[in-house]
Amino acid sequence: MLKFEPTRTLLAVTAGLVLVTSTVRAQTVTLRDLTRHLHSSSETLRRVIAPRPKPFKLIYPKRSQSVGKPYRGRLVNGRRFPDGRGYVYKGRARFATDETVSYVIRAIERVLVRYPSSANVIVKDFSREKGRRLRPHRSHQSGRDVDIGYYFKENWQPSNFKTTWPSQLDADKTWFFVEQLLKTRAVKHIFIDYRLQKPLYYAAKDHGWRDEDLAKLIEYPNGRNSKVVVRHIRGHRTHMHVRFVCPPSDSECED
Ligand SMILES: [Zn+2]
Repeated sequence: MLKFEPTRTLLAVTAGLVLVTSTVRAQTVTLRDLTRHLHSSSETLRRVIAPRPKPFKLIYPKRSQSVGKPYRGRLVNGRRFPDGRGYVYKGRARFATDETVSYVIRAIERVLVRYPSSANVIVKDFSREKGRRLRPHRSHQSGRDVDIGYYFKENWQPSNFKTTWPSQLDADKTWFFVEQLLKTRAVKHIFIDYRLQKPLYYAAKDHGWRDEDLAKLIEYPNGRNSKVVVRHIRGHRTHMHVRFVCPPSDSECED
């Protein structure tokens, strides 16, 4: 009968095995390897236990470029607006600059953080993959425009853009969404029907905005003013139109 007597070597091998197997997962180390490297130089040891790097390639998509003006321009390396949480995409042109796509997604995500069970907002046209004319829009040509529906009271979920009456507008949530867009400091204009600006103005007041700051931001109650961000343009009772400024890196972009 074989008598098992643990020797110093066996202890060292066992300890080594535990150490190595716990350090290098998914790499098989045989007892023979261990015995060999316990008696060999540290160089060999390093070779046995070091993870073996595999060749890999990092793939970065090419950066988008907005070229020209929103109503006379194009898009290079357009980014596709993906499906995601908090919105339903219903348009037919879903390409934009990297910036436009990430700003819109981030703003909607923040709405979900604040209003976790919020109904989805409807998102429609951005630009075509290479931009240029997108009928029936005048703009939407250079990847910096997008049409987004309003949030409705009582978390009502529209199936598409719908004429939104001031009494139906969830002004608190919609204004919160506008605020998230403004935080990007990259918004050039948001077109919203003047009738809907009224409840948004009061929501802004509730959110702590002061009149003197709001006067630079939204037309209501001071009447039409092309210099402010939130402006009335006909045709924006069903949705707001958001236009972003030129990304600083897009050298051929024109505001
Ligand atoms: Zn639009």
